[in-house]
Order: sequence, then C-alpha cells, then structure tokens
Amino acid sequence: MTQAARLAMTGEIALVTIDNPPVNTFSRDVRAALKTHFTALRGNPTVKAIVLACAGRTFVSGGDMREFETGILEPGYHEVLNLIEDSPVPVVAALHGTVMGAGVETAIACHFRIATEGTRLGLPELSLGIIPGAGGTQRMPRLIGLAPALDMMLGGRPLGTAQALELGLLDRVVASEGAGDATAAALAFAEELVAAGQGPRRTRERSVAGAGQATDEFARRRGELARTMKNRNSPHVLLEAVEAAVRLPFEQGLARERTLSDQVERAVEGRAFRHLFFGERELRRIPGLPADARPRPVAQVGIVGAGTMGGGIAMCFANAGIPVTIVDASQANLDRGLATIRKNYERSVARGKLDAAQLEERMARITPSLDYTALGGADLIIEAVFENMALKKEIFARLDAVAKPGAILGTNTSTLDIDEIAAVTRRPEDVLGLHFFSPANVMQLLEIVQCAKTAPDVLVTALDVAKTIRKVGVVAKVCYGFIGNRMMDPYGREAERCVMEGATPEEVDRALEDFGMAMGILAVYDMAGVDIGHLTRVERAHLLPDDPSFYRPSALLVERGWLGQKSGRGYYRYDNPERRRTPDPEVVAMIRDEAARLGVPQRKPSAEEIRERCLYAMINEGARILEEGVALRHADIDIVYTSGYGFPRYRGGPMFYADTVGLQAVCEKLHRFRETLDPQYWQTAPLLERLARSGSSFAQWQAERTTTEPNAQD
Ligand code: NAD
Repeated sequence: MTQAARLAMTGEIALVTIDNPPVNTFSRDVRAALKTHFTALRGNPTVKAIVLACAGRTFVSGGDMREFETGILEPGYHEVLNLIEDSPVPVVAALHGTVMGAGVETAIACHFRIATEGTRLGLPELSLGIIPGAGGTQRMPRLIGLAPALDMMLGGRPLGTAQALELGLLDRVVASEGAGDATAAALAFAEELVAAGQGPRRTRERSVAGAGQATDEFARRRGELARTMKNRNSPHVLLEAVEAAVRLPFEQGLARERTLSDQVERAVEGRAFRHLFFGERELRRIPGLPADARPRPVAQVGIVGAGTMGGGIAMCFANAGIPVTIVDASQANLDRGLATIRKNYERSVARGKLDAAQLEERMARITPSLDYTALGGADLIIEAVFENMALKKEIFARLDAVAKPGAILGTNTSTLDIDEIAAVTRRPEDVLGLHFFSPANVMQLLEIVQCAKTAPDVLVTALDVAKTIRKVGVVAKVCYGFIGNRMMDPYGREAERCVMEGATPEEVDRALEDFGMAMGILAVYDMAGVDIGHLTRVERAHLLPDDPSFYRPSALLVERGWLGQKSGRGYYRYDNPERRRTPDPEVVAMIRDEAARLGVPQRKPSAEEIRERCLYAMINEGARILEEGVALRHADIDIVYTSGYGFPRYRGGPMFYADTVGLQAVCEKLHRFRETLDPQYWQTAPLLERLARSGSSFAQWQAERTTTEPNAQD
C-alpha cells in the first residue's frame, strides 16, 4: 500500500510529502502518516529543518467530508497539527494550488510558508455551515491579526499570494514554472533558515494583533452579521471561537474551538449545507442508466432564438470556449440579440471581470445567422423561441431536417410537453429539455428534462454539458413546470391569495424574505414581468381551478399594463432614481376593491401564516413530484430551489426544511388550512400524508429507496 505521506532526507532537511490523490484531502490516512513521520523526526538529531509539501496539483485542499458522517477518526486534526507545530526544528510549508480549509490550517501550524504564484488560500467553512475547526480560529488571528482573520473567515473568499504575503500569511512567493516548484523553493528556503540558525517560529506563541480593540471589533461584526448573514448561526459561533483566541491561552482556546466546532456540525444549519453538498455529488447518478452510456462530443452548439434566453445561453457556451451559431427569424432581432450580448460583456469589462481582448474573443465565437442550414454542423442545438407549442413543433421539424445525425436537440421551454415536441422529429431519442433560468449566463441552475424516449447517452451528455458551462444540472421528468416552476405555482398562488385576503404585497414579500428567500415572490414577478406568468395561465385557462380569485392580483396588474420593473410599476412602484421598490397604495386599494367585488373575506394573514401557506403549499407539491418520480431525489428538489429560486441554502431547501419542521407538523397545518381556507387547494400529497402518519421524513424515505434501488452508473 502506498503511504498517504512519505518521508525523504535531502542532507539535513527532511521532506515530508503528502500524496493523497486527487486533491490531497486531509484524510485519516494522511493524518496517520504525518503522525508517524513527525513523531519519528522528533527523535532524529540529524534533522535541522522539515519541509511539508504535497504531490500532485495542490497542497491539501481541505478536510475529508466523509468524516462528517463517521465522526472524526483518530488521529484527530488538533493532535497532528499540534505535533507539527511542536517540532523542535523549523517546519516550512510548500504551498501550491487551491489551499482551503484544513489545508490552510495545516499551513499555519507550520512555522514558515512559501507559495508559488497563483496559489489561492481560503477558509470557506462557513459556506458549509461549519467553522474552521482544526485550529484555524485560534492560529489565524495570531498570525495575521484579528480583523484580517475575521475578514478571511467571515468573507470566505480565497486570498491570492500578493494579499497573503502582505498579511504575513506567507513568508515568500516564488514564480511557478512547473510541478515541484513549491517543494524546491521550500527546500532552498529551509536551507537558508538552517544557515541562519533559525529555530521554530510557532504561531501559537504569538499574541493577537488588534486584541486591544477586540470588544469593539466583535460588536461591530455582530451588527454586520445581523444584516449580511440573517438567520445564520454558524457565523456567530465563529465569532465566539475567535473571541476565545483573543481572551484565552492557546490550549484553552483550542479546546473551546473543538466544542464549538462539534456544536455547529450537529446543528441544523451544518446538516443543511452538507445535505446540499452531498446531494450535488449525487446529481449524476441516474437510476436505470446503463453503465456504458458515454457522452457524445459537443464541440459546436446551435441556438434558435436570439431573445432573452437564447442570448444568455449563447454566452454560456462562448464563455466555455465552445463556438455557437445563433439563428433567429428576423435580422432585427438577431442584431438586437447580439447587441445585448455585447452589452453584457461590456458590463463585465467595466467591472474588471473580463478584458477587452477576451470580450472580442467571446463575441467571435458567436456566429449569427438567419439560415437554419447553418446549424448543420452543431452537435447540440438548443431552441429558445417564444413559448408556443405550434411554433416549437414547426422548429423541431425544421431542425430534424437540418441537424446532422447524432446531434442533440434541446428545448428551453418552461412549461410545454416536450414528449409532444420530440414526437414531430424522426429522432425523439435525441430530444430533451434544457431549461435554463434567466439571466441564463448568470443563473447556476439547469433543469435537464428527460423525455419518455431520451437516449441514455443524450442524458449523460447533457449532464456533462452542464458541468462544462458551470451549471448545476438537475434531471427532471416531463410535466407542467418540471420541478422548479411546478412547485412555484402553488407557492405563488398562496402569496396572491394572501394579498387578496388583505395582506399588502410588502407584508407578503417581507414574510418570505425574513424567512430567508432571496426575494419575495411578488417582487420576483415584478422583476421577471408580471405578464410572463399571466400569459401561461391564459394559455392554460381550461386547466385552471374554477376560482375567479385565482392569481387575480397578477391579472389586474396586467390589465392595467403595470407589468413590473419594465413598466416602472407592478406590485410596487419603481419611480425613484435607484429603481428601489416602494409600496403602491393604489395597487393595494385596487386589490381591496376587487376582493370586495369577488366576496373574498378579509382576514389579514399574519407573517407566520403567509410563510406557512406559501412554503407548505410548495412542499406539498414537492412531495407529489417525488412520488411521481419527476424528481429523482428529495435533495434534487432542494438543489433546484437553492440554486435557481433563491431558497436559503442554510435551510437546506424546501424538502430538507420540511423534515426539520417535522412532517407531522407540516401535515397538521395543511389539514388546518383545508378546514379554514379554500379546500380545493389543500389536498395533502399522499406521500406526505403517509410519511407524517408513520413518523418518517423525506430523508428516511429517500435513504430506504436508495439502498433498495441498484444504480447502473455506480
Ligand atoms: P424572447 O421573446 O426574448 O425571444 C424569442 C426569440 O425567438 C426572438 O428573438 C424571436 O425573434 C425568436 N424567434 C421566434 N420565432 C422564431 C423562429 N421561427 N425561428 C427563429 N427564431 C425565432 O423569449 P425568451 O424570454 O428568450 O424565451 C424563450 C424560451 O425560453 C421560451 O420557451 C420561454 O418559455 C423559455 N424561458 C424563458 C425564461 C425567461 O425568464 N425569459 C426562463 C426560462 C425559459
């Protein structure tokens, strides 16, 4: 068995090299090997200095996430890092790559740090609902000072080498020309230390710069957190841990860090983040997919429709270096589409995210055309024309005629039956849904809609494409609205009903935003255009409930031409210079009058009721989606909602959240709503009802299914 870390001597310098591919996770095996080597080195009088380096493409990239499930295995992080720091001879960390979390904590337990240019260093633990628990909260403030350490841990953004050098996190930065540069430079550095007679320089022995202002600093940070990290717990725990670094001796501080770290790991927030983290890793596991399904190459992409979505989708591919041909029916729309793309890129240049040459490079990858035959060379064609079945069918028939054999045909439809669209082609096995979200070049989520006949390799290709264009690809089955929009329907319905019953738009949105939604749903409608949802309801009028108050506020706004931000007013007014939403008493009065006309009883729902009605209606639909198999797993739904709909990650997504409330409690509320509100909207999903009755949860249900269903892709 190869050791996770090996020891070699070069003269008087010991070189300990961690080798745990692919990214040198600080796993139990690595810790055990380090313990062995550093213990042996202590008793070796010929060793004058030690270099700790990593083989492969990065220094330790982080801790081992699997240990969240097993608990930390022996030897623990503190034990091994203390052993390194205790070394009687100087220890130099040789850093390269992406050094995150436990990687940085290992580096700062060493006595000196050198890095190659381009190395990035970060403590992103809070984004997983945990705190740096391997001494980071105690050593980092001692090494770089209180305020910079808090910035690093609360902000989570990795530092580049220049900044790290300035802060004293690094001692030296060297140019990088190839693999092993960091190690070679660290060995040279160690020799200099030996020549200079330099002894160990332990971080734990330093005092915290800025400790004198700690009381004010912590008060200020707590004030900031209330604004920037609403409803979060782990950032406050982080502050407690860092307070221990300021107020307690190192050993006691470390013990405090351990207690607090265990606490956040077990807390709901930590579990929520991990649920999403592990869920994202499972997204590619599609039950029933043959193990030999291999992706088709995608070197050229075609897009039909140069509107809002087509333009954004084209940018996704151009950004990933893939040439795109974009076809539209009208030259004017094509010109406008290309101009919008350029404007978007120009905005990135203005913000310093892109340079002028990159802008031109990306624009050059996008070829406009009015001619469908220009799509003949594309490996993947994505249709993004108006949401109209007849038009989409006509386009797919044309694509069938021009696309090369094996080309994948995707549609960006939000609501239409893709099986019906696929049926007009002679190759339904090559058709699927690729549902991007607006703005497509920004939003992370991509719903990949598997049709009845979609071939396995087409699905696998779509999952790969999602990765290439840096999207989170979630597989859904065909149904109205797929996962995201289907659950949005009852959520929005309740928001609108609350408004009809006397809550103001502001009260509704605030209730949802206080829960943690990125934006209240009515403000979302204003942003997207109130007419968008309204038009789909008009098209589906024959399928909607027999209820004149159903989504009536939206309809009223559309009737007046108040379509949201684009017309300066919708649920809110936007007529101030910053286009900030402000309440519109006229809209409130208009809805009051309509409620009176329709005889809707006025009951002014409380914030709690608004929240429960909207969220539980959404969760209930989620349970249906799960049972129907439209979503493969409850985590998939949660990923859709946290990556595409502004649901707070720290609550884990709607299904995870329901489990934390308890399905029994959710179900009882749904029953109460059925008794007190319009019963037609409150039929509990059979799965939810069953799980609630048996005291189970979505997670338990999922775990039972996952263990009984074989997965061909394993
Ligand atoms: P849009 O109106 O902005 O753009 C549609 C484009 O298609 C126009 O440029 C039009 O000229 C072009 N077009 C129409 N007929 C054509 C034809 N026969 N051949 C070639 N081009 C043709 O629409 P959009 O908002 O980009 O929406 C496109 C699709 O994406 C719809 O199916 C919509 O449901 C879906 N979608 C939209 C959003 C959104 O927020 N806008 C989000 C997700 C999905």
